[in-house]
Amino acid sequence: MPLELALNDRVRLRKPHACGGYEWTVVRLGADIGLKCDTCGRYVLLSRRDLEKRLKAKLPPAPASP
Ligand SMILES: [Zn+2]
Repeated sequence: MPLELALNDRVRLRKPHACGGYEWTVVRLGADIGLKCDTCGRYVLLSRRDLEKRLKAKLPPAPASP
């Protein structure tokens, strides 16, 4: 089943980023998925297949600001 992602979804990966953060925000969708590290702000591109392999969990969206 394909992974369903939307912009601004937050995800947790199996391995921490170099900065120690596990949580990422989806900032680009397409053949490759752009993720921004929630801890250090670094941007990375992963193929959808790579992301599916590394994904541990989707996180609930951050509450919308009023
Ligand atoms: Zn980071």
